[in-house]
Amino acid sequence: MFARFVLLLLAGSILMAQELPVRWDELVASDWKRALELSKGTCLLPIGILEKHGPHVPVGSDLFHATYISREVAKREYVVVFPEYFYGQIYEAKYGEGTFALPPALISKLLQATLDEIARNGFKKILIYSTHGGNPHWLRFFVQSQLDKKRDYVVYYYDPAPDTAFLEQLSKIRKTPLAGDEHAGERETSSMLAIRPDLVKMDRAGDEDGSDQKRLADMPNIWTATSWYARFPNHYAGVGSAATAEEGKLLVEHGIGALVKVVRGVKDDQTTPKIQEENYRRQLK
Ligand SMILES: [Zn+2]
Repeated sequence: MFARFVLLLLAGSILMAQELPVRWDELVASDWKRALELSKGTCLLPIGILEKHGPHVPVGSDLFHATYISREVAKREYVVVFPEYFYGQIYEAKYGEGTFALPPALISKLLQATLDEIARNGFKKILIYSTHGGNPHWLRFFVQSQLDKKRDYVVYYYDPAPDTAFLEQLSKIRKTPLAGDEHAGERETSSMLAIRPDLVKMDRAGDEDGSDQKRLADMPNIWTATSWYARFPNHYAGVGSAATAEEGKLLVEHGIGALVKVVRGVKDDQTTPKIQEENYRRQLK
């Protein structure tokens, strides 16, 4: 009897999750309370960027990845997904057509104001998921700076480390080396073929050189604004022509599976909010 009750409850919550849109912009106001309950007050903020992606994949590639993966994740583990967000660090690609780079102080101000508004709407846990390789340094600093002022919400930033076991498995179907496959190369072109094949111009993938030029290789452990650009001056790193939708599907599915676990962990996390409160309490007045 108890098992049947639990099953009914489970079926009920799955049904509830299915009925309720996962996208913030698709929810109706009268469903907000249910969305807050089901998400345990957690909002997922996918961050992409608008930047050149070699000669063949769209400037919004990171945005397509971030939003597609997040929305698929939310269908498996309910969380409210914030609409398209594409403001971040991309100054090294201002020379490329379609790149959208707002001033540095503004991107931080905009992100903080966005988080404040998300929290004002009841989400006290906000999980940032960025698919853009130029964002991690900025986002880590940004998240660290949350302790500067008392806030009634916690910001989590998911920055996945490479999954070597998965990459090894992937190497069986890959055509090019993993090293140097960083931007619009085999991996990213493959996953675009899985997500939005209609936007990929495979016949142009060989029009530019995506190989590592190693122009600052004699300056190890030095960071400059042009460190990455020096290696890949076409904002293209890898071999896009080697891409396949088959590899892309594996990559996307792997990304979804990993993020589902992260979302579950954040929803259930009782510790971080308490530790954050403790830290605020101990700050000298
Ligand atoms: Zn990208």
